[in-house]
Amino acid sequence: MASEVLLVEDDETIGRSLAQALESQGYLVTLAVDGASARVAFARSVPDLVVLDLGLPDVDGVDLCRELRVAAGALPILVLTARHEEADIVVSLDAGAVDYVTKPFRLAELLARIRAHLRRPEPTGADRTSVGDLQIDHDARRVWAGDQELALRPREFDLLALLASEAGRVVTRERIMDEVWDEHWYGSTKTLDVHISSIRRKLVESGAPGCPAITALPRVGYRLDAP
Ligand code: CA
Repeated sequence: MASEVLLVEDDETIGRSLAQALESQGYLVTLAVDGASARVAFARSVPDLVVLDLGLPDVDGVDLCRELRVAAGALPILVLTARHEEADIVVSLDAGAVDYVTKPFRLAELLARIRAHLRRPEPTGADRTSVGDLQIDHDARRVWAGDQELALRPREFDLLALLASEAGRVVTRERIMDEVWDEHWYGSTKTLDVHISSIRRKLVESGAPGCPAITALPRVGYRLDAP
């Protein structure tokens, strides 16, 4: 069945060309040009994914994001934003957006993100997560890249397991510090970046061709991307 995408974008040129591109990929697209019509469309039919421009004429995009998230918990909301609205990115991720794309964006990249969010990782059994060639056994706290088991330190394991459980979605630095370190962590968050580089090195050294990559979103967080 075709996935329904609600596209909320007040810029006519962007909205129309994006709607066309999505339709050509087989999605059912509803284009809303403001917050009010987005609410109407949403009430008529809950979509499978929302692409939401944050700069709307009648409502605050972040408020709308929060509202849609509350109305439909598991709904992926992908936020479109101008590059200078960095604070908005963090706030909208907190408001329940799963991802963001900054304008101007490459159409191919946006379509790839949309595909990834519509294809949530399939459950692979009780306590295993797999992303590409990466396999994580949460109970045993063991990780394999292809056939090779990785030797990870405890925090590296927790960090990679968290990123893998949210594969394709941004995990904010705040959340990582809360969940992997702890809420009483007063030190520098530099330690996070050090752990990330170490994990990256181990993934690369494994030589497994289908390993996911860790993408850094400066000042925002990290995202594990399937190969
Ligand atoms: Ca706009």
